[in-house]
Amino acid sequence: MESLWSAALPLLRQHVGDRNFTAWIEPIRCLGADGEVRLEVPSRFFQSWVTRHFLSTIRDTMSELSGTPCAVRVVISTDAAAERRVGPPELSAPSPPPLPRPLRAPKIGRLVAHYTFDTFVVGAANEVAFQAAQAVSAAPGKRFNPVFLHGGVGLGKTHLINAIAHELLQRRARMQIACLSAESFMNALITSLRQDQMNAFRDRFRQVDTLILDDVQFLAGKERTQEEFFHTFNALHGKEKQIVLTSDKPPGAINGLEQRLRSRFEGGLIADIHPPTREMRLAILRSKAVACGIELSPEVTEVLVQRSGTSVRELEGALNRVSAMAAVRGTAITPELALAALGPYTRRSTVSVETIQQFVGKRFGLSVADLVSHRREREVSYPRQLAMYLSRTLAEASFPTIAEKFGGRDHSTVMYAVKVIETRRAAEPPVDQILLNFEGELRGRSN
Ligand code: ADP
Ligand code: MG
Repeated sequence: MESLWSAALPLLRQHVGDRNFTAWIEPIRCLGADGEVRLEVPSRFFQSWVTRHFLSTIRDTMSELSGTPCAVRVVISTDAAAERRVGPPELSAPSPPPLPRPLRAPKIGRLVAHYTFDTFVVGAANEVAFQAAQAVSAAPGKRFNPVFLHGGVGLGKTHLINAIAHELLQRRARMQIACLSAESFMNALITSLRQDQMNAFRDRFRQVDTLILDDVQFLAGKERTQEEFFHTFNALHGKEKQIVLTSDKPPGAINGLEQRLRSRFEGGLIADIHPPTREMRLAILRSKAVACGIELSPEVTEVLVQRSGTSVRELEGALNRVSAMAAVRGTAITPELALAALGPYTRRSTVSVETIQQFVGKRFGLSVADLVSHRREREVSYPRQLAMYLSRTLAEASFPTIAEKFGGRDHSTVMYAVKVIETRRAAEPPVDQILLNFEGELRGRSN
């Protein structure tokens, strides 16, 4: 139980922020008993504070780490209780830790404390989105309105909009912010409709100074919600209030989105986020490791980068699994341990060689016949090598099978092609980038 607690600590630090962590989490002593986690705290005041503010986070974190739901109880330390009984409370009770500075909250919605600009790693893949986010925080409603951020799952969209909201709240004490998902917007709308409180709903949303709506692809096909959002959008935009939207695809690719909303979304700045390059994934890992106080050798970092998927969320998940296993076993994080924690292939895929051939061919404007032909021009040979590499790494086909499916070549040709791409991928960021994009899309197809 104590080791589970040690494993949870770095994650809790991330969730609650440094100040809260030092004040409220660090002083806790964890005792395990009969499948129940008992957290001992020094005083009644401490007990009620932790229960009210952190218990659900603690429970979720520990359940996630242990893989089963954890019952967590916060109890007053028996030492502290005994001391209080014998001596005057002023003398023996430990003084309560300083109250943490409360994080400012948006008017509508909730923020994640550690999703700030400080903890966001910037690289070529997300630079435009990052700069747009910073520009909006510096001068909301001025230059870019709306700002539309789009990119695949787990690439940092929600992190960035939280960072915008934190920054705005810090800089402008009186700013009213709404930061919520499109789904929450819809739920609020439904409740208001049901309770016949549409005027209150409209006032609430139209009085904010900044409206941040996450995952607007969710609005697809929800006509009533789109209608209401359209009016909210216009009311705010007309008053030069900042609007920020995110989506997993660009406005034009959201099927079931009304034309008029689409043209509003396209009327400002559109910035996309790409999957991070290898170099950036290394940087993200290093920064997360430092934040959690974990030491990672270059070998372990390499294992993590290779064995996790393309998104930052998967990278984080891999780091958490590895550090939890090390804490539970009470050992250092070695490459062997990382491999054991992540399994030989964390992402099995069912993409076929044929799918890869069609996909890569299409991306380069080539037919499958061109791709498997014996033509040697660069325009054909480079895509062919990429497709062979992906057939090996994603479809996990054998060299002879790939050779057979690429026009009956010799399998040593395939081995050579795979080697060439491996080498280029490590040395040339554009090659890595194109492969990350392809891998992301092909994996999406296999599900
Ligand atoms: P999305 O909303 O695009 O699906 P999230 O913002 O939820 O993705 O990001 C997933 C996880 O990855 C979060 O824990 C987030 O903090 C982290 N993350 C994403 N991009 C970065 C980055 N550039 N630097 C640091 N952490 C990142
Ligand atoms: Mg998100």
